[in-house]
Amino acid sequence: MKYPRLAAAITAASMVATMAACGSSEKTSDQEAASGDNAGALIGITMPTRSSERWIHDGDNLKSQLEGLGYKVDLQYAENDIPTQTQQLDNQITKGAKLLIIASIDGTAITTQLENAAANKIPVIAYDRLIRNSPNVDYYATFDNFKVGVQQATSLLTGLKVLNADGSEGSVKGPLNVELFAGSPDDNNATFFFNGAMSVLQPHIDKGTLVVKSGQKDFKTVATLRWDPATAQKRMENILTSTYKGNVKVNGVLSPYDGLSIGILSALKSSGYGTGANPYPTVTGQDAELASVKSIIAGEQYSTIYKDTRQLAKTTGEMADAVLKGGTPTTNNTKDYDNGNKVVPSMLLESLIVDKSNYQKELVDSGYYTADQLK
Ligand code: BGC
Repeated sequence: MKYPRLAAAITAASMVATMAACGSSEKTSDQEAASGDNAGALIGITMPTRSSERWIHDGDNLKSQLEGLGYKVDLQYAENDIPTQTQQLDNQITKGAKLLIIASIDGTAITTQLENAAANKIPVIAYDRLIRNSPNVDYYATFDNFKVGVQQATSLLTGLKVLNADGSEGSVKGPLNVELFAGSPDDNNATFFFNGAMSVLQPHIDKGTLVVKSGQKDFKTVATLRWDPATAQKRMENILTSTYKGNVKVNGVLSPYDGLSIGILSALKSSGYGTGANPYPTVTGQDAELASVKSIIAGEQYSTIYKDTRQLAKTTGEMADAVLKGGTPTTNNTKDYDNGNKVVPSMLLESLIVDKSNYQKELVDSGYYTADQLK
């Protein structure tokens, strides 16, 4: 066990039957003592990049949540550069952080830092992205990533009218041309999204309703390193040039992230899509980023997946607080997130398909965005 004091507290907690049964983070008197030790402790948060809005929201929400609980917070962004992130982690450990919350760039590239954290008895929470191949990850807070992929594919089918909004079989039988994009191969989530999406799309490909006309179907070929919009734009341009000549049109594009969707739409626009006679194909997304929600309202991007980062921050803040007080945080999944070394106890939140029909209710009425921000 890495944390002798934590271990003792957990043992104490497990003796309280009701607490053990519900996975509560209430404290015993031992844990109260531990909380005293860590009151006002420094928590290190590392986020991958500021180039995508969602991580800015995540960082801000987490910081204010933890500061509200009395902790000090060091929040760092690494602009998708792995050595920058490893250095930030080294610094946080040196500065005496008592807990690390990490949204990794490459889930396999921080093993040394994690070993160092373990040697210093610093617990680690993987934030949104699983940290792989290391025993030194204590908890994981994320969304149900496989389900995100299922939702992306489902909304692609709804946009194509292969399915109706209620999930029943739609009027369009195809064949329809679609192209597939996946996220960064070094981000564990990318495979979950893709596998989730393919679990829905493959049967339609098998029966010929959907045709991946470029022939580019396997994860490695369709993956987009570092989730880079320019890479996706270039790949879409190449596909349009090689595969869609004359009157052959692409009808749908599976995009796993709003930033990529913007790149993809821009390639489509350069190729003449986006007019009355030649409308954009159905393009999916993820994160409900401002530019993409505006694009959805304008009838360009079809849908996105809304993951309420306020909830993720809240859940993670509660996890961190429970751990620092010597308790056991609430988790709801202890089977799906094997990081190659161990199954990391996880808390999975729910995501939601958002398109033109429900953005007002889900994003504005819920207070995620103001109506003004979407103008
Ligand atoms: C996150 C997605 C995000 C992507 C690109 C993934 O790890 O789960 O929400 O779209 O990274 O930033």
